[in-house]
Amino acid sequence: MYADVIIDQDAKALDKVFVYSIADGLDVKVGMRVIVPFGARHLQGFVVGLKDDCDYDKSRIKQISSVVEDFSAIKPEMLELMKFMAKKNHLSLASILRLFIPTEMREGKVKELFKTFYSIAPEKEIFLPKSAKKQQEIVDLLSQMPRVEGSKLNEKFGYSSIKSLLDKGYIKKELEKFSRRPEIDMGETAKVTLNQMQKNAIEAIKGNATYLLHGVTGSGKTEVYMHLIDDVLKEGKSAIMLVPEISLTPQIFNHFKLRFGERVAILHSGLSAGERFDEWKRLFSGEAQIAIGARSAIFAPLENLGIIIIDEEHEQSYISEANPRFSTHDVADFRARYNNCPLVLGSATPSVESYEKAKRSEYNLIEMPTRANGKELPTIQIVDMIGQIRQGNSGIFSNELIAALANVVNDKKQAMLFINRRGYSSFMRCRECGYIAKCTDCDVSLVYHREDNRLKCHYCGKQFKVLDVCPKCGSENIKQGAVGTEKVVGELQKLFPDVKILRMDNDTTGTKNAHQKILNEFKNSLPSILVGTQMIAKGHDFENVVLVGIVDADQSLFHADYRSTERTFQLITQVSGRAGRGGSEGKVILQTYAPRHYVYKFVANYDYKGFFRKEENIRQTAEFPPFSRIIRVLFSNRDEKTALDELKVRYNKIVKLKEAYGSEIIYLDAMKSPIKKIQDKYRYQIMLRVKLEKADQIENEVFELVKNNTKNNVFIEINPQSLS
Ligand code: ADP
Ligand code: ZN
Ligand code: ZN
Repeated sequence: MYADVIIDQDAKALDKVFVYSIADGLDVKVGMRVIVPFGARHLQGFVVGLKDDCDYDKSRIKQISSVVEDFSAIKPEMLELMKFMAKKNHLSLASILRLFIPTEMREGKVKELFKTFYSIAPEKEIFLPKSAKKQQEIVDLLSQMPRVEGSKLNEKFGYSSIKSLLDKGYIKKELEKFSRRPEIDMGETAKVTLNQMQKNAIEAIKGNATYLLHGVTGSGKTEVYMHLIDDVLKEGKSAIMLVPEISLTPQIFNHFKLRFGERVAILHSGLSAGERFDEWKRLFSGEAQIAIGARSAIFAPLENLGIIIIDEEHEQSYISEANPRFSTHDVADFRARYNNCPLVLGSATPSVESYEKAKRSEYNLIEMPTRANGKELPTIQIVDMIGQIRQGNSGIFSNELIAALANVVNDKKQAMLFINRRGYSSFMRCRECGYIAKCTDCDVSLVYHREDNRLKCHYCGKQFKVLDVCPKCGSENIKQGAVGTEKVVGELQKLFPDVKILRMDNDTTGTKNAHQKILNEFKNSLPSILVGTQMIAKGHDFENVVLVGIVDADQSLFHADYRSTERTFQLITQVSGRAGRGGSEGKVILQTYAPRHYVYKFVANYDYKGFFRKEENIRQTAEFPPFSRIIRVLFSNRDEKTALDELKVRYNKIVKLKEAYGSEIIYLDAMKSPIKKIQDKYRYQIMLRVKLEKADQIENEVFELVKNNTKNNVFIEINPQSLS
């Protein structure tokens, strides 16, 4: 017998299938991990195929040395998925296979855990001297119980007494495998009766198709998901439920744990290595049938899937931006089609791309336009901050927001203040007239770069001098301005010295369970104010929150990204959804320097469709995705000249595509990356924007031309989320 093996190494030269022979008596199956001789070394590999014969010179074929585990860690479906991803995402086979098993297992770092139990040895009669008091106590205890856990006995009596009893053969010891389980703090959950809207949604979702579930915040999508999963389990099938990394609040896990108990396994980056490995094994063995987690849970080793759900489908975190680069939607689609089951994409604000697909009937659209508990969506009041300056208030908070906060404090309720902050860089804005510096060619906002004090366009690379005065109104009050959470908390505390004010951002949530601690403290204090970044935008369901303040809504609007308007719409809708979920009416105060921007009109009216039509129109005219494709080739190297040389060689090849494809290529140029250096590596890039018709072809050609780099320092990104 012969085996096709993929070597678990990064080198491009090894990115192919190698043939090994199998010694008689060695049980090798497809999907197993094996150790093979390679040159002078022994390396790990994956068996991806078996065959009786092979075409090579058999005298030169080496034998598989051993198997790593006696089971196939990679299941047949995942081998098919590997082929799909290799083609679709132009990835090396080994890099894909690694996604399918926990890192800890790959590196052989975690072992299965065993617990010790002690019990009375039945066959021995026990004689203990009077002085052996502790031993006697142990014997008395064990006589009353079938067995006691080792750690408990140890703690109480100490190991020396246990050991004496063991040595004399009076008690015996057994080992039992056990799973490390992530701890969840269980709360209670109200039992709800489905409303007609939810019933209709559940009724509609069946068969081998993709559904876009467009439901306003609080429409009860979670309940729909749980019912769908329940039905799937009853048929003896399994389910994957994905949530974005950012909304990995314990709340969603609690819901699922309470409903499905041991049948749920949780996969996300916050788990310890051991926990992750054990949860993976429970899915692998079929002990758990529901995988719930962030992006990587899409690779859960479940068989016989009955449904895949992606909640908050518009979230950026579903696209992997680090290597290996892939889109969760593509993988989910593959697995759903393979298993012949529905794929559900849920959101209050679907991505323009997904909604476009629904419009073209590629997805089935299901709508849930009202809140499940009958509550109105909160009113969104837009406050013009330039008007505030004219009235003499140049602080962070408008008079309206201060008054609303005072009411919340008076009524002993709660408020959330949202600080919209992304990345390191920011735009330039005139605080007198609202002017924003934009690229003359691309009509996207320029980004201020502190390191060289320039304004840069992230699409075409053009650079501009930093402005000292506003070109529109002549004011000198022009600067790049983002306020941080810390500053906001400081200012708030001055206004409301006696009120509990909590802060949630990257700085305050570094430690394990920090999230939960802050949220619990917030929940248990009345009145209280929670100040935070994107982290507070999703998933939380606090009934006493009656006010949401968006301190500077424009922060995501004028980011140099064709998706920035879409992101702003999504973010504001999400944060607003936190208000008025309980008994009292909710209110949102949105502060902006651009009150007439179309996004604010649509967002205040909860008019997703109107927004979509406008946005669709703009993207179509400007030829941005989903009406074109952006391909970025990124070169990074510690040595600037090497990066630049690599870029030149490739650019000279890629530029020839222009002759072949003409106007199919809307834009092509080479430039320094907007952020010139990251982690001590210089960055250069080639940017292409191409029409859809020939996009696949051009993409493939670009990959072909860029390939053959040996050092792994060239990356290709399709419609990248960030262009820094
Ligand atoms: P979404 O995920 O769509 O934002 P949730 O699933 O969080 O909404 O539901 C919002 C609230 O409505 C939750 O408190 C939930 O318990 C409640 N809810 C869901 N379905 C119903 C129902 N049929 N009747 C009453 N309340 C419901
Ligand atoms: Zn101005
Ligand atoms: Zn530009």
